[in-house]
Amino acid sequence: MREPTDGDKLLDLFLLRTKEPEYAVDMPFYTTGSIVAAALMRVAILGFASIILSQWLDSTKVWWIAMVSLWAIGVLPAWLQYQRFHEKVEAIADGTLCGACKHFNATNQLCMILDEHVTNEHPPCEGEAWEPKS
Ligand code: SF4
Repeated sequence: MREPTDGDKLLDLFLLRTKEPEYAVDMPFYTTGSIVAAALMRVAILGFASIILSQWLDSTKVWWIAMVSLWAIGVLPAWLQYQRFHEKVEAIADGTLCGACKHFNATNQLCMILDEHVTNEHPPCEGEAWEPKS
């Protein structure tokens, strides 16, 4: 497993990574909650930045800068992150024992009875607590 580089840390700091890094092995790098929280945080920061910018620029320019940056930095990364997360959950749901178990919660990629994230084809319970979906 490789360690995060400075570039990785910068992407992580601003929550802009659009696919899971190689070093995210024992827990999902993104969940629905983290994607939404990160998007709200970026939008709030951009909102404050726009208010500050409005002190120096005219309102039309600020409005355009705000709209473009909200889309490019606030919303687009969240949408891409959600697509990646959804693809990963679908792969787990279709191709693993956990995906066919009634205790698997696809919303947060979690085994609900063990309270553990399912990250690969090996079920954390080793299959002992598996129960079919009804
Ligand atoms: S009970 Fe076992 S098989 Fe079912 S989701 Fe949890 S870890 Fe996976």
